[in-house]
Amino acid sequence: MAQEKAKNHNLKAVPSLTDATTPLVLDEESSECPKCFNSGLEVLPEGARPCSCRKLKSREKTLKSVRLPKHYGSVSFDSYKPRTQLQAAAKKWAANFATEYPAVNYGILLMGSVGVGKTHLAVAMLKKLSERGIPCMFYEFSSLLKKIQDSYNPTTQASELSVLSPVLNTPVLVLDELGSSKPTNWVLDTLALIINSRYNEDKFTICTTNYFDNRPTDREDTLEDRVGVRVRSRLHEMCRTIILDGTDYRKKIDQSLQRY
Ligand SMILES: [Zn+2]
Repeated sequence: MAQEKAKNHNLKAVPSLTDATTPLVLDEESSECPKCFNSGLEVLPEGARPCSCRKLKSREKTLKSVRLPKHYGSVSFDSYKPRTQLQAAAKKWAANFATEYPAVNYGILLMGSVGVGKTHLAVAMLKKLSERGIPCMFYEFSSLLKKIQDSYNPTTQASELSVLSPVLNTPVLVLDELGSSKPTNWVLDTLALIINSRYNEDKFTICTTNYFDNRPTDREDTLEDRVGVRVRSRLHEMCRTIILDGTDYRKKIDQSLQRY
């Protein structure tokens, strides 16, 4: 296509820049690309090539529709370095889901304490899936609940369907930090609605959680305490539970920094 265009303009096509990290700053105000003036084709003395802004824009567009927070920009499977056997196994399961979907049987529930890389793997899965053109969506559990709550309309006594509908219908949903909200009746009912609806429609769900099925100490909640019996049992049917062990790598970094 770019080559055809170049021919029409009597220009020779030159190879595109393969380095996706080429520094290219889009002017936010006008959002006009200084290289191609939004034509998508960069004209050089020796010919023309697809402008690197196209890749950048399509990546931005994808991240926006997937709702990935910007600070996960550099997260990928390659950047996940397993430090235990369970982490290596989890990476394998996650990568397998992302490449094999939709030929998979289960979603994935990544279970482990803080800082072992659950969200990293979930984000890497979403990125891989969206690169493959599969619509998917990321939500941190408590911010999803807040968004649904904020959209509540007292007149209709219902929450906006525009918030809930994509969450129910997206082919792959990541619910990050499942169980992080205090399990009030409303939270449990809303979660049950989302999970049951996705189950009935055969949609895949990927969850991460800091809570375990076994109570680590008498004072700590289990996942069932946080999401309710119904939802935990439904998740057993929908997701393969993958446990990650290890220590908090973010804490480790903090500690090593404190030495300096
Ligand atoms: Zn451009």
